[in-house]
Amino acid sequence: ETPALEVRDLVVSYRTGRGPLSAVDGVSFAIRPGETLGLVGESGCGKSSLAKAIVQLVEPTSGALKVEGHDITGLTARARRALRPKVQMVFQDPMGALDPRQRAGTILETPLKLNGVRGKAERRARVASLMEAVGLRPEFIDRLPHEFSGGQRQRIGIARALALDPAVIVCDEPVSALDVSLQAQVLNLLRKVQRETSVAYLFISHDLSVVEHIADRVAIMYLGRIVELAPRETLWRAPLHPYTRALIEALPRMDPGASRIADKTIVGGDLPSPFAPPKGCRFHTRCPIAVGRCAIDAPALSDAGDGHLVACHLAPGAVAAPTAGAVLQP
Ligand code: SF4
Ligand code: MG
Repeated sequence: ETPALEVRDLVVSYRTGRGPLSAVDGVSFAIRPGETLGLVGESGCGKSSLAKAIVQLVEPTSGALKVEGHDITGLTARARRALRPKVQMVFQDPMGALDPRQRAGTILETPLKLNGVRGKAERRARVASLMEAVGLRPEFIDRLPHEFSGGQRQRIGIARALALDPAVIVCDEPVSALDVSLQAQVLNLLRKVQRETSVAYLFISHDLSVVEHIADRVAIMYLGRIVELAPRETLWRAPLHPYTRALIEALPRMDPGASRIADKTIVGGDLPSPFAPPKGCRFHTRCPIAVGRCAIDAPALSDAGDGHLVACHLAPGAVAAPTAGAVLQP
């Protein structure tokens, strides 16, 4: 089966006033049609840069991005534009992502118009079915973004992402700005949409507890690299990377109302500057079990069995071997 999205050895670095910044440093994974990969990490770990590269808002420095088997990094601008509808994004802040002067109907009709759906009647019918798919009443079609609640605005964001039958939707913290009660509704909607369309999600969050509700597999990112990737239950039951263990231990268990975590309190110590990432294992400055070698050698992401990948010298069962094949095995 061709993956909906394949990311291979992706590097995103920026030239900045403070010197070069390597935000994404050799990331590989694949997502099947109808699958959700959760991507979790603290702010500053590179997950937003990775998202922007996937939706072509930033140019990757190197590596490959394939959508339904088509390499979008090796294409001319025009061929890439043709594939752009295949990868869509749902943003954290639906208000900021919607034009405040456009009515819901126009917001949903615009991508159809821009991508060659010629007939007005056909567009109108598609807009109506998109509104229905995300649970918005037909009469809302003439409302402006500020006339909707936060949850309803996120529904419009999801409908807009669905307008052109994408293969992949990158969901960048799509519920982080919503009340806990609305979070569940939007997550349920995303699940329903996935059942109906087989769209793949890359679901990005700083909050492991949100990802737990939606992801089939979970990737943990630290300072530009994936340090662990596993099926959700495996990651939860038997995490192998000390960083993942710290993230899980930091989750409040008894009080669901308090399940949101502040970005910075997850692990002791601050996230090192991405401008000068630690040598060797990038986590060694915060790792409770680091040994001498950790400050020198960078551990490769290795297969510990059953699609469980981990980058740690001390992880039991991790075989240091090329991982590309294992990464791609869904
Ligand atoms: Fe900790 Fe060393 Fe493993 Fe890195 S490689 S996570 S520093 S034990
Ligand atoms: Mg971010």
